[in-house]
Amino acid sequence: MYVSMYIYTGSAVKGAAGRELSVLTAGGQRLGRTRVASSAAMEQCACVERELEKVLHRFVMYGHLSEESLDELLRYVCELRGQLVTFGVQDADLSVLSQSMAQCCKNIKDTVQMLASRHKDIHGSVSKVGKAIDRNFDAEVSAVVAETVWDSQDRQKFLSESIVEHLYRQGMLSVAEDLCQESGVVIDMSLKQPFLELNRILEALRMQDLRPALEWAVANRQRLLDLNSTLEFKLHRLYFISLLNGGMGNQLEALQYARHFQPFAAQHQRDIQILMGSLVYLRHGIENSPYRSLLETNQWAEICNIFTRDACALLGLSVESPLSVSFASGCMALPVLMNIKQVIEQRQCSGVWTHKDELPIEIDLGKKCWYHSVFACPILRQQTSESNPPMKLICGHVISRDALNKLTNAGKLKCPYCPMEQNPSDAKQIFF
Ligand SMILES: [Zn+2]
Repeated sequence: MYVSMYIYTGSAVKGAAGRELSVLTAGGQRLGRTRVASSAAMEQCACVERELEKVLHRFVMYGHLSEESLDELLRYVCELRGQLVTFGVQDADLSVLSQSMAQCCKNIKDTVQMLASRHKDIHGSVSKVGKAIDRNFDAEVSAVVAETVWDSQDRQKFLSESIVEHLYRQGMLSVAEDLCQESGVVIDMSLKQPFLELNRILEALRMQDLRPALEWAVANRQRLLDLNSTLEFKLHRLYFISLLNGGMGNQLEALQYARHFQPFAAQHQRDIQILMGSLVYLRHGIENSPYRSLLETNQWAEICNIFTRDACALLGLSVESPLSVSFASGCMALPVLMNIKQVIEQRQCSGVWTHKDELPIEIDLGKKCWYHSVFACPILRQQTSESNPPMKLICGHVISRDALNKLTNAGKLKCPYCPMEQNPSDAKQIFF
């Protein structure tokens, strides 16, 4: 995912928060550059989250309070009923009885009023969340949106397809089918099948059923090993642990199952030793032994992640859906873009950023979003391409081929950095 990110203006602009944003001259020459971190967006999220946490806290407190008060009332009413039964037998003073009844009614009324007023207080906190969202998130994004981006039929089809793919990944099959019908998108069965399979296995894993995943891993053993995957071993390991969980009754079965570790003996020797060692403690319970860490419950979430990662790699799919990656990138990029748009307007240099398919500044989405390495020529300040690839000089410096040709004089090249003189034909193309 790469977008060229330049702003064509001669003057430097300052970000709203005082951050110096670098810019390029009209000729495209770079004057310098600064990254505008996405931390502003994170702060905004954190701000809303804080309000949300306050509401949740009050809600929980309210739950406890109402439970306690209702319990107390119930106790009181039960007591009164007990008294009534006794009074009925003894035919006692009616005025005492009616006094108790009145007191009981008053108590109930007071409690209801108290709960109602506490409930009202929560309304205040809820509306604060709404206000925090309004204050922190600018819903008006049209200023930085390219209106024509979804104009063509093809692009709309791409969008629908990526939504359908995302839904398949999430296991929302019927929603995906409906969308296909309504949008007229035709999805090849061969594209759908892997997701159906993945979801079926993941669903079972979430229910702590290892069998479908094990069958899949055994069937794909060689290909998984080629990927350096530890999935199959980890599945066997977890199955073994679930047998340990069953106590002494499973001792024989666990011992027999241990033969599944044999193909992994070389690679996972230490893990296998630990698993076998734990058998000694089966009689006293693994949970009371030095091996109790084997029973940690987060292993199930971990195995789901490992399965998703390795199965996706094997099927040639990205681990995360392209749609959610794009959406997350947009969430990080939009505040920065809206910020710079505002700055451009304040400085009255509108018309500066007219190419809306280009970003005016570099936006750092973090290492997670690094997909393709790019190389910008330090001489020409341009991203290298297939027609103008990066070339390594014999001194080790790298420039683009166009720059190399420009700098060559009478069959000789002087490196612009060291400056070693050399034959330009000695330079080698490098690949990222
Ligand atoms: Zn050099």
